[in-house]
Amino acid sequence: MTKLSGSENVVGSWRIMRSIRFHPCTTLLLAGLVLCPQTASGQRSREAEYREQRLAMAALIRRYGVEDARTLHAMETVPRHEFVPEEHRSRAYGDHPRPIGYGQTISQPYIVAYMTEMLHPTPDMKVLEVGTGSGYQAAVLAQTGAEVYTVEIFEALATSAGERLKRLGFDNVTNRHGDGHFGWPDAAPFDAIIVTAAAGHIPPMLIQQLKPGGRMIIPVGSVYGVQNLIFVEKDSNGKVRTRNLLPVRFVPMLSDLRRTP
Ligand code: SAH
Repeated sequence: MTKLSGSENVVGSWRIMRSIRFHPCTTLLLAGLVLCPQTASGQRSREAEYREQRLAMAALIRRYGVEDARTLHAMETVPRHEFVPEEHRSRAYGDHPRPIGYGQTISQPYIVAYMTEMLHPTPDMKVLEVGTGSGYQAAVLAQTGAEVYTVEIFEALATSAGERLKRLGFDNVTNRHGDGHFGWPDAAPFDAIIVTAAAGHIPPMLIQQLKPGGRMIIPVGSVYGVQNLIFVEKDSNGKVRTRNLLPVRFVPMLSDLRRTP
């Protein structure tokens, strides 16, 4: 009988409600008062959870040996889950790459941090990224204060990354659709260049667009297997030196043969 009395109470309350005349807006307002605080607190606790996961991710990266304070701060603050498709968000902060559509991936957090640290980004630096993808690596570089130019070969990815970066307030990132083999001649020269897709060789135009004293980091090797992450330094006389850093696996750097700079 307890159950029955419960439903009777509901029916009883409904009768009372019907007997009072509500303006439709009042009803909406009442519904809002009940629903909105719940939605807002749900959103807040999800953001707090993401924050906790992000701090744990940054702590792991620190344990793996990344020391640069600006890089670690960027890893602790850039909301990686915003760059990952909805269906992968619950695992956005795991130390793995994640699919972002078009057969492409957002890189593993440790690799993002490692490559960022190798460039020693500072607020007065101009950096070119080849392979915008989701925009996450560009956001991490931008969070260190650097001025970032980023180019992406898939137009749809370039558009969505541009919108995302704008929505999240990364005003120091400029992005465009194009083939990164040609760099970004109008914005060159750059203090640093980061390539986040695997190239068969170091594109000569990228070396040209590097300032004397500049650094570049690029995965080079077999595009469908393991590559080497190569560190390129151009000295003040324009002399270029390269060294192997570590074996990595990136998606291939594609060519758009229809496109010129
Ligand atoms: N940095 C990205 C992930 C890189 S995945 C992020 O943080 O999410 C590699 C990206 O490089 C892909 O989006 C791919 O479409 C892009 N790409 C491949 N070849 C390219 C080229 N020639 N020029 C510009 N972008 C290219």
